[in-house]
Formats: sequence, structure tokens, C-alpha cells
Amino acid sequence: MERAVGAVVGSAVGDALGAPFEFGPPGAFFSRFPEPGCGGEMCGGGGWDAGEATDDTQMAVHVGESLLERGGLDPADIFRRFQLWAAAEPKDIGLQTEDVLTNGEPWDRAAAAHFRTNHRAAGNGALMRATTSAVYFAGRGRAVTMDAARRIAALTHGDRAAWEGTAIFHELLRVALEGGDPVGAVADTFAQVHPEHRERYAAVLALGWHPDDATEFNGAVWPCLASAVWALRTTASYEEAVRAAIDLGGDTDTVAAVTGGLAGAVYGFDAIPVRWTEPLHVPLPGAGERVLRLQDVVDLAQRLDRSGKAASAKGSV
Ligand SMILES: [Mg+2]
Repeated sequence: MERAVGAVVGSAVGDALGAPFEFGPPGAFFSRFPEPGCGGEMCGGGGWDAGEATDDTQMAVHVGESLLERGGLDPADIFRRFQLWAAAEPKDIGLQTEDVLTNGEPWDRAAAAHFRTNHRAAGNGALMRATTSAVYFAGRGRAVTMDAARRIAALTHGDRAAWEGTAIFHELLRVALEGGDPVGAVADTFAQVHPEHRERYAAVLALGWHPDDATEFNGAVWPCLASAVWALRTTASYEEAVRAAIDLGGDTDTVAAVTGGLAGAVYGFDAIPVRWTEPLHVPLPGAGERVLRLQDVVDLAQRLDRSGKAASAKGSV
């Protein structure tokens, strides 16, 4: 339970911490906050209040609430919630996600229709929102959690690369929630990855990979996931991992959200600095303008963990 809360809160905190640095250069975070523990890092800026979570966490909350209220995976319901959210004009929304949610196609065809015309749909926008579903499906084992990840990713991303990256994240988080080492489990996931995507993920998730080796901007799914695993692999605490992720620059809120999900599961909720969790809040466009505070996010994580385990015990998906 501590790890499940760590994952969901850890991702939201990474998102809020990274948001003011989005599209900035590498090194910007360390030059402003040179030492871990120095304080003031949850600074706001770039249109974000201090502690305000962005679209990554907002969409993750919508996924989590759908799973709880529908008692399992109801893709049409998740899509409908995403559409309400997009229509309520969130401060930030991925270009592709917005197009898919507003192109008028039904839930099971919208992403594919977008991919057919644009041919580019391997952004990190499905990976960024995966922590809540990863917690919920963790108890169902590797195959079920990876399949659920693909189906939720496919709602907005027509490119299978985005599905496979999200599926790998689900599996690594499952391992971490069980108390295992997600970095050590990376190689075991490749056999479960679609053959056409296996080689590329094996390359970017290799132990020798460094973010400087990335061949795309880290708004793409491969370097985003790989940077998160790199940040986890090369640091020894939640704080250090998230700092390293944000200091890469680029899509800082999302890379930190993905890193924070994994690191929160590995180190647990108590490892997340209180000065970062205390100001956390998640505005929720499309849901009556609710704003989730820390305790609400903790409650959501606990309910996802409990309901996921209960559904697992019943053998339902
Ligand atoms: Mg964002």
C-alpha cells in the first residue's frame, strides 16, 4: 500500500515539480537548485502555480476514477472522461491527444483515424498517465497488466510504439509494487513486447544507455521511458531520481512524472519530501472543477490498490 501511494503521489509530484521547467535546456534545474534538500524547488512558473499538477496527472486521475467507478476497464468510459476533460480547456493538452479527443470519431476508432492521416503517434502522452492503471492492474500479473496498458494507451495513440512503452512501464511498476527491482526486471519484459518493437526498446533500455544517446526529443515515448529508467538506475533516492529527470530538460513534467511513478513505488510514499507533497494539488477540468489535494491523491491510490487486489482475487478484469 505504501508503494502504491508512493507511485501515484510520486508521479504527481514529479509532474508538478517539472512543469515550470518544460521545454527548458538541460542543466536548468541543477543550476537553480544545486543541492538535494535545499528547498524551494516546488517553485511554480510558466503558468503553473507551485505544486500544481498538469495534464499528465489530470488524465491519470480520470483513468483511475473510471477504473474504480466502472469496477474495471471500460475504455469507452475512459475516452468519454478524456473528452469532457479536453472540452473543459485544461491549461495544457498534448496536440495529438487533443486532436484525437475532438475529431468526432468514436472511442474505438479516433486514435487509429488520427494515426492514418498523421503517421506520427509515438509521443509520451499515454505513458505519462499510466501510474493509476498500473497500480490497479498490478495484482493481475504481467500479461493482464501489459494488455490493459495497451488498451488504455490505444485510446489516444494509434502507434503501437506508444502502447508497448506504456505496457513496459506497467510491468516495471508491477515489479516495484511487489518489492522487486524494476531495473533488474527490464530485460525480462522484452519477450512480452511486440516483436516489431522489441529491438528498439531493448536498445534504449540497455544498461549502458544515456539520455545523450536519444535520437528523438524526450517527448517521444522511447527516450521518455528510457530517461525515467536511467534516472532510477543512476540515483539512490526518490529525490535524486526526480531531480535527475527534470535536469534533462525538454518535456520535464512528463519525464519526471514517469520517473516519479517508478521511484515512488521503489522508495515508498515516505521517501517523497514533505515540502514537495504538501503543496501538491491537481485541478480536474471536466469533473466539476474539483481540485484534488494530497489526501485525495493518497485516497485514490489506496482505493486503486484495494479494488485492484479485490478484483484480482475474484479473477475478473
Ligand atoms: Mg504535462
